Amino acid sequence: MTAYADFYRRSIDDRDGFWAEEAKAIDWQTPPQQVCDYSNPPFARWFVGGTTNLCHNAVDRHLATRADQAALIAVSTETNTERVYTFTELHAEVQRMAAALKELGVQKGDRVLIYMPMIAEAAFAMLACARIGAIHSVVFGGFASGSLASRIEDSEPKVIVSSDGGSRGGKVVEYKPLLDEAIKLSSYKPSAVLLADRKLCAMNIVAGRDHLWKALREKHLNTVVPCEWVEATHPSYTLYTSGTTGKPKGVQRDTGGYAVALAASMKHIYCGNAGETYFSTSDIGWVVGHSYIIYGPLIAGMATIMYEGLPIRPDGGIWWSLVEKYKVTVMFSAPTAVRVLKKQDPALLTKYDLSSLRALFLAGEPLDEPTAQWISDSLKKPIIDNYWQTETGWPILGIANGVEHKASKFGSPGVAMYGYDVQLLDENTGERLTGANQKGVVAIEGPLPPGCMQTVWRDDARFINTYWKSIPGKLVYSTFDWGVRDEDGYFFILGRTDDVINVAGHRLGTREIEEAISSHPNISEVAVVGVADQLKGQVAVAFAVVRDASGLVDEAARAKLEAEVMKVVDNTIGAVGRPARVRFVSVLPKTRSGKLLRRAIQAVCEGRDAGDLTTMEDPAALEQIRDSVQ
Ligand code: ATP
Ligand code: MG
Repeated sequence: MTAYADFYRRSIDDRDGFWAEEAKAIDWQTPPQQVCDYSNPPFARWFVGGTTNLCHNAVDRHLATRADQAALIAVSTETNTERVYTFTELHAEVQRMAAALKELGVQKGDRVLIYMPMIAEAAFAMLACARIGAIHSVVFGGFASGSLASRIEDSEPKVIVSSDGGSRGGKVVEYKPLLDEAIKLSSYKPSAVLLADRKLCAMNIVAGRDHLWKALREKHLNTVVPCEWVEATHPSYTLYTSGTTGKPKGVQRDTGGYAVALAASMKHIYCGNAGETYFSTSDIGWVVGHSYIIYGPLIAGMATIMYEGLPIRPDGGIWWSLVEKYKVTVMFSAPTAVRVLKKQDPALLTKYDLSSLRALFLAGEPLDEPTAQWISDSLKKPIIDNYWQTETGWPILGIANGVEHKASKFGSPGVAMYGYDVQLLDENTGERLTGANQKGVVAIEGPLPPGCMQTVWRDDARFINTYWKSIPGKLVYSTFDWGVRDEDGYFFILGRTDDVINVAGHRLGTREIEEAISSHPNISEVAVVGVADQLKGQVAVAFAVVRDASGLVDEAARAKLEAEVMKVVDNTIGAVGRPARVRFVSVLPKTRSGKLLRRAIQAVCEGRDAGDLTTMEDPAALEQIRDSVQ
């Protein structure tokens, strides 16, 4: 085994040599002539001259060695269905879907918007697009017509693939009326809609535009659709960011660099081997779903589980029962899901045989130490946090146990991953902060490694201005997150750059205060925001979800808990971090992807308009905040 430090250094100092080596893990139709063209920064072109195909690498390539092995395991606790597709079967379904799309006029470079629940057909559609060189744009199935319309408008899909509906907690969610409404709202109109009919609800079919997957599938049962070899730099997909800090950005990803980056991460970071099973509990509507439900595991020759349903239905043991049944070796989830499980009976975690599982990876938002400790104690497996963004497609910070085994430090998503020249920069001077425990903006020196965004879809200017121009005097990629690095090179994310509050001249990350508060045994979740204050500039206000609210019978009980929480902050951060108020709520406003909407909470506290809320999960949560501050 190489020491990780050497491995990392080589990835930066001998960038081309390093990635040329990694590129051997995938199949190329034509090998690349140049590893990285960075002649026009910040635009990086990876594996120039090479041609390949994502679908070939994810599916066809495995037919020779693992044709009858499970590839896609589609489980729905909503419809009580479970179906295992072997690589042979997946290959057949993807070709049928590709043939259907071609019949509807889709050609290389055309966009196909996928608005679907977590069903196998959604995976077929993504892979079918990759197969024929079409650019998919998956829109999370939980979005309503407004969010969907703006994405139709921006991506201009020739075809939209959708279905009659989804189901959540046993309740049918009709997709088709939302889709029809979205198409009506959008000034751009797709030429066709392809619909999977799950028979969950009735569908209104628009003659001439709408087509049923079932019918086209029958027609193309045996149609052969070869993979279209595309340039490594050909866009494979666009995907919108979560919209936690404002209007979502259309992230555009390439093909060759992405395939190489995923193959490398499966080996070095996730340690997943061909023939094993990977279970990511995310949704295909998010970047984790793209990289680690569909492409990453399949490229690695693993079976991947696609799960439709809640983590606690029929009970909080459902995920662990799947781990046992399908001998899952690698699992990937989000802190928000772990916090949901934390409220369930802990016995459910020990009820199943989890011996196959090697590690649980978590990403997407800060993993606070108490939550990490809880899941670690309950599962008795390594818990590995990793930090990344829709923009990067794979981890920026993490632990590369496939290179060298390193321990996790709870509260830290780990060290800089190979390929990423991660720096902490002074936000005002752009100076590199190299000492331990210095607070700075987490930034990445260009070029971004393979797999990261190429640009903002059809908006190069926005790519440059949004990401590369925020640090004075420097062309450097900003993550818009604050961080510190300890003496061992482990980073700690302190919150988003717009989540820093300034209390009487002291700059505090909301994350630090939240971390302190969540160590109180009766707090399960908390959001801290800075609220304008005449005297101090800003004060911190905390909104906390109480684990057991039965004791909060009156104002006195609430005041007592509030004082306790303040005491915890005094003891960990000091009185400067003490929130001016701690309010108790039953739920916090979050994006559909489970991220705290501090921006909206702050606006409500300051009596401003809450801004773009199209990605918000539960509007009632913001109402509670409003009520509690009035
Ligand atoms: P938008 O960019 O539209 O405001 P978003 O940043 O929430 O939305 P994503 O790309 O889904 O969209 O999320 C990436 C962000 O999530 C990171 O920049 C960081 O703030 C947070 N994040 C992700 N993983 C972690 C982690 N392991 N620890 C702390 N924060 C994380
Ligand atoms: Mg972001």
